Amino acid sequence: MEEGVINRTKNSRLYAIIETAVEGIISIDKNGIIQTFNPAAEKIFQYSANEIIGKNVNLLMPLPDRQEHDGYIKNYLVTGKQKVIGSGRETTGLRKDGSEFPMWLAIAEFNEDGQQCFTGFVRDLSTEKSNLQKAASLEYILERSLNEIYIFDAENFRFIHANQGALSNLGYTEEEILHLTPVDLKLEYTYERFENLIAPLKSGEVEKIEFTTTHQRKDGTRYPVEVHLELTEYLARPAYVAIILDISQRMEAQEKARINQEKLAQMDRVSMYGEMLAGIAHELNQPLAAINSYASAGTRRMASENTEKEKLKELFKKISASSARAGDIIEHLRVMFKPHVKKTEYVSVNRLIKDALKLVKTDTKSQEYQFKVDLTKKLPQITADTIQIQQVILNLIRNAMDATANESKDNKTITVESCLVPHENRIQVSISDKGPGIEAEHADQIFNPFFTTKESGMGIGLSICQTIIQDHSGQIWFSNHADKGVTFYFTLPTKLDTNE
Ligand code: ADP
Repeated sequence: MEEGVINRTKNSRLYAIIETAVEGIISIDKNGIIQTFNPAAEKIFQYSANEIIGKNVNLLMPLPDRQEHDGYIKNYLVTGKQKVIGSGRETTGLRKDGSEFPMWLAIAEFNEDGQQCFTGFVRDLSTEKSNLQKAASLEYILERSLNEIYIFDAENFRFIHANQGALSNLGYTEEEILHLTPVDLKLEYTYERFENLIAPLKSGEVEKIEFTTTHQRKDGTRYPVEVHLELTEYLARPAYVAIILDISQRMEAQEKARINQEKLAQMDRVSMYGEMLAGIAHELNQPLAAINSYASAGTRRMASENTEKEKLKELFKKISASSARAGDIIEHLRVMFKPHVKKTEYVSVNRLIKDALKLVKTDTKSQEYQFKVDLTKKLPQITADTIQIQQVILNLIRNAMDATANESKDNKTITVESCLVPHENRIQVSISDKGPGIEAEHADQIFNPFFTTKESGMGIGLSICQTIIQDHSGQIWFSNHADKGVTFYFTLPTKLDTNE
């Protein structure tokens, strides 16, 4: 220990270097006794200089080196054969707490005051090793991942690396893939389109891009993929990393889900037809029962002697009216179920509204009403069956007229409006009246087939409207006004390209 202190004072510059070195520096004499022990060595081995100086350096080594160390030195001193002196090597160190760690050890030999001494330079490799191990296992995981992982050059897009998952899924060898670019795998992309797609990544506008596309394997088969793309650095060059998920199974599930949905919709329709049939039976039953009772009354009257012809005539009239009513019901149903081949075309919804209003105005009753029409100009077109959408508009206007038939002149105002729903690519049409509105207890039923509150109503108008609008991927609903009346709304998707 004394000797160490003396040495330290001998050369203060050297001392400063040793004190601040990141490597552990330990010097020993020819017997292996520790002479100096710098702060880095204290940190690495967990001994303080005071407690270790003067002890044999083999304390810092695990077995078998510990037992053999004295022998090594002696052997060297006798034979001059060096094992670690000069060149460094990786070995194992022993901390005070008994734990072992990998370390790099280089030994220099020097002569001090005629004494042969050795200085060891020690670097703790545990963090480095564990980082390397981590990197290696991460690389192993990524390499073995079934997801496709690619790295491609940011300038020429050539693949720099593709993991095993990518190679085995695509069927290319590592050598072959290095001649390709992502564009070669993506049928829907040209070089230019791909460049445009990743432009926001290149400019730093976004950090990550996700998109779905189709990949083509070497054998020509295709599969849908979801691509996650990031710009990074690989081997000191800007490169893109692409993680690709094969979404065939997900797509299949979505298919399946759609089929299930269609099946459900079909079941819904079947149950709706069931309800309709019950409604039809009920509707027809009324005039038929009336005919039956008028006919029985007529028969009874015929049996009595003083039957007035007028009375009989009246009964026949009623029979005729009831059968006409039954006929009407059947005619309505015929029209309703008449196979209509849906014919869609690009149309202006405002045009359809104007045409429907013209039809309404052919009815003399319409003269009692005032029609306020507020249509937004230059609306995008819709894709629709014109007859069907006109039928919806007509139905809603006629219902509004029915609802206000007994209202004062002021309230016989029907407002028709059209507009674009902001941010939704949908056109909205509304028809408002100032009638009694929809009673709360009927709110859930008005779209049901055969629900009516009108004496001569059929109750199928709104149910047809709903079927048509839903069939056009739209929605229909109503909202009562706070004061008086109701507005019926429907929306329809616009054609995406509004320039045509
Ligand atoms: P119908 O007109 O033959 O009754 P709908 O299916 O068109 O058949 O309408 C069903 C019911 O909805 C009507 O009987 C009425 O009670 C209610 N309804 C429809 N439109 C209006 C409206 N504008 N104002 C008040 N009630 C309405």
